[in-house]
Amino acid sequence: MAPSKRTRGKPKLKKGVGGKVPRITYATLAVTPKDDEAYDNAVATVRTKLGSHFTMFINGEKWTSTGEEFSHVSPVDTRIVVSYFPKGNRDDVRSAISSARDAFPKWSSTPYKQRTAILRKGADLIIERRYELAAWMAFEVGKNRAESLAEINEAAELIRYYCDQMELNKGFLRQLESPGPKQETYSVLRPFGVWGVIAPWNFPLALATGMTAGALVAGNAVVFKPSSDSPVLGYEMCRAFIDAGTPRGVLNLVTGPGATVGAELQENSGIDGLVFTGSKAVGMGIYHGFAKDFPKPVITEMGGKDPAIVTASADLDQAAEGVMKAAFGFGGQKCSACSRVYVDNRVKEKFLDLLKSYTQKHVKIGDPTRKETFLGPLINKGAVETYANAAEEARRDGGRFVYGGNVLTSGEFANGFFVEPAIVDLSPQHRLFRDELFVPLLVVAGVESFEEAMRLANDSEYGLCAGIYSGNQKEIQTFFDQIQAGVTYANRRAGATTGAWPGVNSFGGWKGSGSTGKNGLGPYYVQQFMREQSRWIVK
Ligand code: NAD
Repeated sequence: MAPSKRTRGKPKLKKGVGGKVPRITYATLAVTPKDDEAYDNAVATVRTKLGSHFTMFINGEKWTSTGEEFSHVSPVDTRIVVSYFPKGNRDDVRSAISSARDAFPKWSSTPYKQRTAILRKGADLIIERRYELAAWMAFEVGKNRAESLAEINEAAELIRYYCDQMELNKGFLRQLESPGPKQETYSVLRPFGVWGVIAPWNFPLALATGMTAGALVAGNAVVFKPSSDSPVLGYEMCRAFIDAGTPRGVLNLVTGPGATVGAELQENSGIDGLVFTGSKAVGMGIYHGFAKDFPKPVITEMGGKDPAIVTASADLDQAAEGVMKAAFGFGGQKCSACSRVYVDNRVKEKFLDLLKSYTQKHVKIGDPTRKETFLGPLINKGAVETYANAAEEARRDGGRFVYGGNVLTSGEFANGFFVEPAIVDLSPQHRLFRDELFVPLLVVAGVESFEEAMRLANDSEYGLCAGIYSGNQKEIQTFFDQIQAGVTYANRRAGATTGAWPGVNSFGGWKGSGSTGKNGLGPYYVQQFMREQSRWIVK
């Protein structure tokens, strides 16, 4: 649709607290000078709070456990301690589950409009606090300013979208066909009880918020465990919902190791459903281990090895920019990151030249709080080792480095986990085309045909995102029909495989990337936190 005279040329606006705020999404990354100023001020404020001691939240109270803590250092500069959090144990999780069980009956029988009103207020508070949250995100996980601000907007919009779904469906109570005179029948979706929510570090606010809001809006109580690499953002999400008025015990925060805190959530019979986002290894353990005595719902969203196909008829400039953004945005540390490309041999060299020049031009490496930075650090030492080992392996096995491939250790990079974005031309049989690395190392292989590209793209245990660049409509349709992936894109310059947004582009994996076949951010998500009750009333 053509823009109207009134809106043409203006950024798309969305309602926020105190009027209207520009809509920063992963596609627009439209940071304004006003945002820059507010963000810079927030960075200065957050600097004064670094190294603070935080708590868990159990039954609406701040909770410190035994006093033992764990610390998280900044990947930007490991001399900076970002936070100290209680090292929770199994007893803390049991207390949290018990408070959630006590809170469940009242919360689940609260009219859904009251629940959505509280949760919407949580979304408003997240927007109100967005600049400080974005600054924390830079220090805690190394995300740059535009992507952090987009993620915070995404978190708020996820809450609003799931509230919309609850309201549009009128609380999921539907009258069915009457079986006879003076008889009524209904179908109603009802919450399960207490959900465990286990989140990863890479979208520390949006993913935690999406899973939690889905469970809460449906009327469940929640015990939430953030990643130990991003506990501040997890804490801030809980604070927003608690400040918004979620009653005591409805939302509980437990922090600590996956092996104890996470495991208790998985094993405790007081948990009625479990929603997890993270790696395939941990996710499959949860999938197999959670429901022992009888079936219980488990939602696991897992990793990806997301391919892009570039055909001979593609707009190569569009393809190069889209692949660069999807491969190197947040250092390839997105489950949606493009990590392998199959390009037609006839256009391969031209595509690689363009990809190299986009990477050279756009991927400014540095402190993520700085405006010009595109690529911040990797999350930790383990990720740097994964990158270095993969680069060495690619070199050893005859890979041609078109760009990058080195760990950065001097000057401003000396105390952080910085690496160059890497583009490697390699044989498509190599294991680097199969294993998720979660670092900015993109492997590219030449292919003889579209059919070969499709076969290789589908030859993966994962099935999360996939993209195609082609000028041929038939190829595009075949791609959509035959690609084994839950999130697909054609000819997208803003990102070959990235860019999901609530209500716009839903997000979830097939095969080893996800267990339910229903995407987050979409119209079928909230229903998964409820079970159907059929009712027959004789009047
Ligand atoms: P991870 O699997 O290591 O950890 C995820 C969460 O699980 C953390 O909170 C961790 O503490 C917890 N955990 C670890 N062991 C556990 C156990 N035994 N029992 C219960 N909980 C346990 O993943 P990560 O490193 O935090 O995140 C990166 C991974 O997440 C990548 O594989 C990425 O692709 C994936 N991811 C997927 C999506 C998606 O939507 N599909 C989104 C983001 C990230």
